[in-house]
Amino acid sequence: MSTAHESDGALGDLIDPELPAATYVLEPDVVEPLTRRIVTSHAAGTHRSTSPFTGAPLAAYPVSSPADVATAVERARAAQAGWARTPLRERTTVLDRLGALVLQRQSEILDLIQMESGKARRSAFEEVADVAIVCRHYAVRGPRYLADRRVPGMLPVLTGVRVHRRPVGVVGAIAPWNYPLSLVLSEAVPALLAGNAVVIKPDPQTTLSALWVAEVLQDAGLPDDLFLVVTGGGDIGAELVEHVDHIAFTGSTATGRKVAGRAGERLIGATLELGGKNPLYVAADADLDTAVPGVVRACFSNTGQLCMSIERLVLHERIADAFLERFVEAVRDLRLGSELDYTADVGSLVSAAQLERVTAHVDDALAKGARALVGGVHRSDVGPYFYAPTVLDDVPADARCATEETFGPVVSVTRVASDDEAVRVMNDTEFGLNASIWSADVARARALAARVESGTVVINDGYASAWASPAAPMGGFKASGLGRRHGREAVEALTEVQAVAAQRGARLGVSLDSLYTLGGEAPSRALTVALGALRRLRLP
Ligand code: NAD
Repeated sequence: MSTAHESDGALGDLIDPELPAATYVLEPDVVEPLTRRIVTSHAAGTHRSTSPFTGAPLAAYPVSSPADVATAVERARAAQAGWARTPLRERTTVLDRLGALVLQRQSEILDLIQMESGKARRSAFEEVADVAIVCRHYAVRGPRYLADRRVPGMLPVLTGVRVHRRPVGVVGAIAPWNYPLSLVLSEAVPALLAGNAVVIKPDPQTTLSALWVAEVLQDAGLPDDLFLVVTGGGDIGAELVEHVDHIAFTGSTATGRKVAGRAGERLIGATLELGGKNPLYVAADADLDTAVPGVVRACFSNTGQLCMSIERLVLHERIADAFLERFVEAVRDLRLGSELDYTADVGSLVSAAQLERVTAHVDDALAKGARALVGGVHRSDVGPYFYAPTVLDDVPADARCATEETFGPVVSVTRVASDDEAVRVMNDTEFGLNASIWSADVARARALAARVESGTVVINDGYASAWASPAAPMGGFKASGLGRRHGREAVEALTEVQAVAAQRGARLGVSLDSLYTLGGEAPSRALTVALGALRRLRLP
């Protein structure tokens, strides 16, 4: 019997090699071409993932050992040097093709995402759209982000300084299960653009989607070994941090702190995209016709398993009752389902562990006096891990779901008497990832946004217009993260910056050295005169 990897409890039971392959939801001829891409010596056992829709075995694949992680990074490092020398135009062409291929082959990955994560197809499509948007953005705008800059030298004309962006080398990416396509690529795209290689450690539950990305990247023309996949749980993620030149981590705040600690010791860069307890404020002047469906999407897209998802509703007391009446009705109408088509509004939770966490949060709140306006029940009639979209009122401050991230389809309601009180309630959290404000007066909402401690603030929308604007940085204040993904900021995080300063005047005998040959006080006097003149001319 092969030994399963049990290091952090994230991986499943020991695999029985006698288990007939036919019991797997995915046929071996779909799985094998993907799992062949894993960097593994087959010495660390096998992992079996489970279908969230049915609880049945989904696929089995080999796990990487710590030595395999070292091998993957070595191979990536060897390939990276050539990639960094590849003309930028060729690198952007690969990204452009990747975006086109993901759109073209979307039905393959939509099925895979749904089967691995249990989400509804419309939530899976958000990932396809996201990759197309991110690839287009970096293919078009990337060269500008990477362009050399001339900056003022010490002595104008005589000193020429240029600032260059160099790839860091091998970027490690550790991804969670909730967006198996998007979160595998959101850091990889700017990393590859900048001339880095990428080694990715996806979540054990959603590894096949990451392997599909590796296949499509190859089809898009990416040379070998520039995007490698290692598999396993937390120990393999931790091992990856030991070898790479930058770590891009997406996951929980608790794990992010460990990754940051080790990255700090190794003095490598770390981008940390962590948890949230995101608030949404409906102001007294909000248009409820647009707010109600928008807020439903903000809370329950991806079954609430979205880092930017709204878990705290802050309602101005003047509209609270009218809003809630319509909101609760709309939530009750949401259709749960496991079909591989667009019929369901909301999918399953990903696993028994997620179901346990969501149930524990709701039961704790109800036991402490909260009321469920809708939901609050396990929907085992739809599938083993389905949970009804839930709206909780009167949630006491000591309930777990008042402060901890639930990461499920559960939102709690707080009423406020003023915008000032709304800002105070929104900021009353250790997190600061995303916030949303609904108001007919966008200028007033912008003024409120300036007072909200959150990496993104979305006005009259829940999250999509911030997440899907890849020119804008995305990430967290406070315990929600460090650094940013998307935009110029991602490219800056994934590159080393190098200043090259050249003395132009040397041949004319007016270099810094020639000044010092004057001896005595003369150099200081000459520099004093020059510095005074530069100040008067207001040269930077
Ligand atoms: P998690 O932290 O348990 O796991 C995330 C990844 O880290 C997995 O691949 C896991 O195997 C790996 N890992 C676990 N322990 C590790 C260690 N010690 N060292 C290195 N890697 C390790 O998170 P999760 O529960 O799977 O994901 C949900 C969390 O992710 C939520 O908190 C959610 O808010 C957050 N998230 C954040 C963003 C964002 O952009 N801010 C996006 C999606 C999810």
